Amino acid sequence: MGLLSLGTPLDWTDAKAFADFIRTNGVEQFLNIYYSLKDRKGEPLLWGDEVEYMVILLDNSTKTAKLSLRQSEILDNLNNVTDDIVNDSNSSIVSSQVPTFHPEFGRYMIESTPGVPYSAGLKELLTVEVNMRLRRNITKHHLPPNHIPITLTSFPTLGVNYPFLDPHYEPNGEASQSLFLPDELINPHVRFPTLAANIRKRRGAKVAINVPIFFDENTPRPFIDKTIPYDRDLFPGDKEAKEGAAKPDHIYMDAMGFGMGCSCLQLTFQACNVNEAFNVYDALAPVAPIMLALTAAAPIYRGYLSDVDARWNVISAAVDDRTKEERGEEPLKNDKYRIPKSRYDSIDSYLSTSPRNRPEYNDNPLPMNKEVHKALIEAGIELPLANHIAHLFIRDPIVIFNELLKQDNTKSSDHFENIQSTNWQTLRFKPPPPQSKIGWRVEFRSMEVQLTDFENAAFSVFIVLLTRAILSFDLNFYMPISKVDVNMQRSQKRDASRQEKFFFRKNLFPKRDRDIEKYRFDSPRMEPMKKSFDNFKEESNMNGKRTTSSESLASNYNINVEEEIDEMSMDEIINGKDTFPGLMGLVYAYLHSLNVDIETKCQIKKYLQFIKDRASGKYITFATWTRNFMRSHPDYKQDSVITSKMNYDFIIAADEIERGIRTEPSLLPPSYIGSDKLKEPSVMDLSQGVSSGAEPDKRPT
Ligand code: ADP
Ligand code: MG
Ligand code: MG
Ligand code: MG
Ligand code: MG
Ligand code: MG
Repeated sequence: MGLLSLGTPLDWTDAKAFADFIRTNGVEQFLNIYYSLKDRKGEPLLWGDEVEYMVILLDNSTKTAKLSLRQSEILDNLNNVTDDIVNDSNSSIVSSQVPTFHPEFGRYMIESTPGVPYSAGLKELLTVEVNMRLRRNITKHHLPPNHIPITLTSFPTLGVNYPFLDPHYEPNGEASQSLFLPDELINPHVRFPTLAANIRKRRGAKVAINVPIFFDENTPRPFIDKTIPYDRDLFPGDKEAKEGAAKPDHIYMDAMGFGMGCSCLQLTFQACNVNEAFNVYDALAPVAPIMLALTAAAPIYRGYLSDVDARWNVISAAVDDRTKEERGEEPLKNDKYRIPKSRYDSIDSYLSTSPRNRPEYNDNPLPMNKEVHKALIEAGIELPLANHIAHLFIRDPIVIFNELLKQDNTKSSDHFENIQSTNWQTLRFKPPPPQSKIGWRVEFRSMEVQLTDFENAAFSVFIVLLTRAILSFDLNFYMPISKVDVNMQRSQKRDASRQEKFFFRKNLFPKRDRDIEKYRFDSPRMEPMKKSFDNFKEESNMNGKRTTSSESLASNYNINVEEEIDEMSMDEIINGKDTFPGLMGLVYAYLHSLNVDIETKCQIKKYLQFIKDRASGKYITFATWTRNFMRSHPDYKQDSVITSKMNYDFIIAADEIERGIRTEPSLLPPSYIGSDKLKEPSVMDLSQGVSSGAEPDKRPT
């Protein structure tokens, strides 16, 4: 999360009264940005990652692993360290390479980003892992004793009925009113407890998260969770669990912290202009669930093995502030809209104005704020973008700071960001902040964070190259967005990466170049592939010119969009099948279309090979590994229960894998070098090109 505003947050009833004020001014701010910056062109490709860590305290005498609530102290330390490096003229680290550390929702969480975004060069891709390792190393070396940072998507014993936090607190906080999580777990900055409290107040009840339990041999059927304190009588909402919020056969959770307390890996790309940002956004939308399945790393919640492998539905339900009327459980009376999804969910519409973005693809219900839509259309905003913004603006602002109500709408985007940054979707279209040099950006938000920086770098490099391939080959990934949502659900199922099929577009190439499909772009056939792409580039005169006339023509034909897509396995989508090149084929084609030295190519291929192998099932996901680890633990009773000791052993094992002192051939290639063996990366490893001079974005999340 970005910089935090200081001030006095309005209580929910007051905030609600200002909702229209925020939206009206927010739209005005958006229009000011759009009109002053829509013609901004030629921005360089810049991009950056965000990696989130959980800080864990290990106690070897009691064999416990707990989340450590020392975020403020740790961040102060880390910021002092980075300041010292910047101010130390003898430091071997160039100041632009000094990473930055940010707070996150959980008081046990730390987020790190590169100090400045990476630039486009392929060589720079080789610095990503080094940069990530530097951040992890700085963190590791500046934690209190017995603390470790782990890039874990969900913490197995978060919310169990024995101590899982250090220091320990009873769950009796006003903000969450949770039966399981104390408010002390929340980042103490007033924005965060207010978010939690106002989501609960707006909804009119606590959030209700129900994850299906994994039925093992001895799991009781039906599964009724006896550890829930059904009879607590501290807050009015305490009775919700008993009255049906806690579903049988599910793991029940009742607080924002269960979702926002998960970690993830996010990537932000700057496009050269606004249209390119639309294209990247649209093309990455169908990729989001695929990458969620491929990075799945979260099979355990509140001490139980679940039947899902990924965090998405948990976090989605954890901030679901919709009322019963909005959810369709009661007739609309006080509220304006039926809203099919939580504010944390997959995107509902594509953005491009190209004829490629056919109306048939935008087949999700799209409730819109009519006044906002009208204002946008009257101001001349193109329909897809107006739809998108008006859809975001059906939400109320949740946290409003009294001191920030009055703003100069030509200079601030705070009211716009208030709505935008609390629509947590698979993709985020990020307009430039006013009065900055930053361009139009797209954020890719579905991936789960991986245990090692080798993996986090591999996934980042893969998505960066895929994005470049999409743009240079003018690829078409459109499919009905309702099918993307079907994939979102499939992607979270147990072992989805190996067991599920996903909808994907069959022909990814511009229409008149159909014959390019003939080639599968895997390595033994590199030559024909390279040639075909060279021809293709010349023919379609790419690099800039989009949407061929034949394609516009095609849009007049009545194409059955269902016939354009197929159901494919993860292996097929990534590695290709028959005439379908696979996302990896596209990435390789792009790589080979560039003039890159062999050494750089080899290094990049190390990452790509890993992604290929993960997709083919040669390497299992961390979710599968975790499930296997727990199910074969000597203390496990085949009853889906994860004990404190099992959690401790799991954390120790995970840490040892990351450090490279425990090898797991099912997870990582033999060439993996753990952080123990690879000491502090030297500056020589960081390319000099890192200093792109771009200013980092510093706005609220
Ligand atoms: P948020 O939490 O709002 O998504 P952060 O500031 O935490 O944003 O992270 C944004 C990421 O975007 C970082 O990796 C940063 O390096 C990167 N970034 C910053 N400026 C740009 C830019 N102009 N273009 C692309 N990426 C950028
Ligand atoms: Mg974050
Ligand atoms: Mg961030
Ligand atoms: Mg942020
Ligand atoms: Mg308390
Ligand atoms: Mg982000």
